[in-house]
Amino acid sequence: MSNKGKVIIIVAPSGTGKSTLIHRILDKFDALEWSVSYTSRGMREGEVHGKDYFFISKEEFENKIKNEDFVEWALVHDDYKGTEKHFVQSKLDEGISILFDVDVQGADALKDVFKDQAKAIFIEPPSIEELRARLEKRASDSAEAIEKRMSNAKNELKRKNDYDYLIMNDDLETAYGHLQEIISQILERSC
Ligand code: ADP
Ligand code: 5GP
Repeated sequence: MSNKGKVIIIVAPSGTGKSTLIHRILDKFDALEWSVSYTSRGMREGEVHGKDYFFISKEEFENKIKNEDFVEWALVHDDYKGTEKHFVQSKLDEGISILFDVDVQGADALKDVFKDQAKAIFIEPPSIEELRARLEKRASDSAEAIEKRMSNAKNELKRKNDYDYLIMNDDLETAYGHLQEIISQILERSC
């Protein structure tokens, strides 16, 4: 793998607010490219194929695993999620830095592949009760899916100190300010 662009990984329990923060970061940093993951999850209202994810069937995903198309993939909340190798490699070769939204398994795998070239930022919710409130307010998941996300969140939160940076998303503007500062630092720093 190339070592030119930076690999910036955002990791947070589902519902913390990472998509909200990431949209703002991508608007702010023209130099950053977004890694569109592949998933076997069904499309939520408002999601766009090729923008939020590449939505493919479970069978198509399993074929891509067999073809070794992914730099990392994982089963997240019972759905496949993965990052395509070719996209990442070609962008990094061009010197372009990439922003990733992956779960803890994906963050660990990307750190393993890209070593110091990769920086991971964990975003935590102010409390587990507030996380549930945000998932319920978003109203994009069934009650069963919310329970699954909450139980995974408790495990993911145990890993919050294992990454390069930790931000709490309590007040959105404060969290955005911290994230912006950290990303500026990472982009300015040479590996
Ligand atoms: P994620 O991508 O981590 O699953 P989202 O960005 O979809 O989370 O956010 C989940 C819900 O919480 C959304 O309804 C979003 O508007 C809301 N939200 C995000 N950040 C905050 C915050 N700081 N305070 C209150 N609500 C927030
Ligand atoms: P959601 O279903 O809410 O879009 O995402 C659920 C979880 O899947 C989030 O924690 C998100 O970070 C993770 N995720 C999204 N894309 C990928 C990916 O390509 N790889 C991995 N490992 N996790 C991903």
